[in-house]
Amino acid sequence: MKLFMRKTSAVALLSALFLACSPGKSQIKDYNKAPVEKYMQTISAKDLKKHLYIVAADSMQGRNTGTEGQKKAGKYLISQYVANGISFPKGADGWYQKVPSEYMSRAFSPKLGDSENIWAFIEGTEKPDEVLVISAHYDHVGMKNGEVYNGADDDGSGTVALMEIAQAFMQAKKEGYGPKRSILFLHVTGEEHGLHGSRYYSEHPLFPIANTIADLNIDMIGRRDEAHKDNGNYVYVIGSDRLSTDLHNINEAANIRYTKLNLDYTFNERSDPNQFYFRSDHYNFAKKGIPIIFYFNGVHADYHKATDTPDKIEYDLLSKRAQLAFATAWELANRENRPVVDKDGK
Ligand SMILES: [Zn+2]
Repeated sequence: MKLFMRKTSAVALLSALFLACSPGKSQIKDYNKAPVEKYMQTISAKDLKKHLYIVAADSMQGRNTGTEGQKKAGKYLISQYVANGISFPKGADGWYQKVPSEYMSRAFSPKLGDSENIWAFIEGTEKPDEVLVISAHYDHVGMKNGEVYNGADDDGSGTVALMEIAQAFMQAKKEGYGPKRSILFLHVTGEEHGLHGSRYYSEHPLFPIANTIADLNIDMIGRRDEAHKDNGNYVYVIGSDRLSTDLHNINEAANIRYTKLNLDYTFNERSDPNQFYFRSDHYNFAKKGIPIIFYFNGVHADYHKATDTPDKIEYDLLSKRAQLAFATAWELANRENRPVVDKDGK
C-alpha cells in the first residue's frame, strides 16, 4: 500500500465509454461446491507462513524496487512456481516483464534501478483468450539507517497469497478442474514508489485489455486494524461495485458460500478521506475500464515501519482472506459470462 499523497487529479477518473448492457446473471450457479471447497483448503496457514518467513526475511533487505534484495525475493517466487509445475505466460519469453528505471523516474524521488514484474499463468480450458488477473506487489520500502523494513503485511501477505492461490488452481487443473478462462498471476514491482509496475503492465499488457475480464488485487491481508481489534473476521472490500455490479455480487456470493467474513465497505465510500481506491495496483486496471476488487486489512501501528514483521501476521486470517479471493476467482474463471461492465468507475 502506497503512502497517501493527495492529488487534485485523483477524482478525475474514467472517460472511457461503457456499454449499457443489461446486467448479467449475478448469482453463483448452483454447481458442485465440492471442488472449490477442496482446493481452497490447500491455501493453508502453514504454507503461507512458510513462504512469508522467506519473502519477508531480513536477507531480502526490504525488497526495495530494483535492489538485489527484491530480485532475490523474486527468484524465490519463481522457484516455487517451477516446483508447482506452473509456467510463465504463453507469449512471454520468460518470467519477467522488465520495468525500466527511466519509466519509474519522478521528480523529487530517488532514482530506482531497473526492475521487473513477475508473472505466472494457467491457461483456460474453454476460453483461453479471456484472462483474469490476480495481482499483488512484491516490492517494499527497503532499508533505512541499517534497519530492514520487512514488509510482511505490506505486501508480503498478498505475495504469498498469490502463490498459494496459483498452486490451488494448478492442483485443480491437474485433477481435471482447470479454469475455463486463463489466469495471470501478476507480482508487480514499484508499487511503493507510485504504482509503477501495474501502470507499466496496463500500458504494455501481455494480453489485450479488452480481453482482461477483471483484476483481483491483494495488498495487506495478514493483520487487523484498530477498528476490528475485537473481531478479526473481516476484510475491507474496495472498488468491487464501481465498474461491475456482477463482480460485486459474485464476491458477496462467494463469501456467503465459502468464507463468511464480514465484508467491510467503509473504505469504498467515495467520501472516505483515505482514498484507498487510488492507492494500490488495481487502480491502474480500473483506469482502463477493467472491473477490480481490492482486498485490504486496513492500516495498523506497524504500517511502513521496520516492525511489519512475519511474527505479527495472523496466518489463519490471512488464509481465510486468500480463500475468499480464490473462491471469487474460481467463479470468475468458470462462469458462463464474464462480469458485465455496467458502471462508470466513479
Ligand atoms: Zn506500502
